[in-house]
Amino acid sequence: MTGYLPNQQRYEQMSYQPCGIHGLKLSRISLGLWHNFGDTANQDISRQLIRHAFDLGITHFDLANNYGPPPGSAEENFGKILRHDLAAYRDEIVISTKAGYVMWDGPYGDGGSKKYLVSSLNQSLKRLGLDYVDIFYHHRPDAQTPLEETMTALDLIVRQGKALYVGLSNYPPELAQKAAEILKSLGTPCIIHQPKYSMFQRTPEQGLFDVLTEQGIGCIPFSPLAGGLLPDRYLKGIPEDSRAAKDARFLKPEDITEAKLDIIRNLNELAQARDQKLSQMALQWVLRQPAVTSVLIGASKTSQLDDAAAILSQKPLQQTDIDAIEAILTP
Ligand code: NDP
Repeated sequence: MTGYLPNQQRYEQMSYQPCGIHGLKLSRISLGLWHNFGDTANQDISRQLIRHAFDLGITHFDLANNYGPPPGSAEENFGKILRHDLAAYRDEIVISTKAGYVMWDGPYGDGGSKKYLVSSLNQSLKRLGLDYVDIFYHHRPDAQTPLEETMTALDLIVRQGKALYVGLSNYPPELAQKAAEILKSLGTPCIIHQPKYSMFQRTPEQGLFDVLTEQGIGCIPFSPLAGGLLPDRYLKGIPEDSRAAKDARFLKPEDITEAKLDIIRNLNELAQARDQKLSQMALQWVLRQPAVTSVLIGASKTSQLDDAAAILSQKPLQQTDIDAIEAILTP
């Protein structure tokens, strides 16, 4: 691939929103590197995806220590792309990573201890080839570590200059609130929360969005397309190039039930009547939540990034659309 010059109009087509009451703005669409960036991925496509996303004004790239496969390889590969194509643009990019799931053997490679979080971020920075990340997340709650210890570790990481901001992921509402209060008292506020949220997974509506709004914390829902199940992709069987065919650990063919396909068919008709794709309506539906700062998508093709970015110039969902979607989701 030849030298890369980003699209000069990139900031005109995207919009940016602050994380809650905080100063950091994120592009309304963020790209996650959970799939399609490990060593098993086609490296040319991974590189095209990053360049294309940046060209569309996507400034936020989301990683975790364990993204691959193998774990760690998405950070390494993203680090290479950064050095080759985006080194001059580091200050125009928000890079996040996380620790919280199992990463290495023994008692210090999993959970929420200070030992694990500090050493994991040191490893992530090496793989990425960076001095600091913009956001460091605790990836999931750990009942075996006192919340104070995990939050103190996040505060320490910021004070060490290894992350500018901290966030939490997969914390239920009460714990998210407690954690946010501890972080605030330490002087390192939680600026963002990363929950799973889509038309098929609505748990954050049961208290989490309220806590985040009250605390002035931003929200970046992950898997807004239910890992690719929600678009019209599986209506005619399982395509060879789809996640369910290529990496069925997280989207199993048996999860693609006839009941879900019925819902998808009805949603698809509604999206078509609105002159958009179902994937686009599903992203607009997530972004309709006032608590949501940015929607965190995955992509296997640049056309999927185009689909996502196009929603910003499409007609927003009206109350009648939201009601019609609700009637399909909860008949
Ligand atoms: P999505 O729900 O957005 O699924 C992405 C997949 O949907 C793509 O890989 C593609 O699948 C399909 N897709 C995307 N656009 C289209 C389109 N226009 N038409 C049809 N199909 C489309 O998100 P992910 O599950 O990938 O998660 C996104 C990010 O969230 C991750 O990369 C990661 O950064 C983060 N995450 C965080 C977690 C946490 O615990 N904090 C857990 C999981 C994810 P296909 O490959 O079939 O083309």
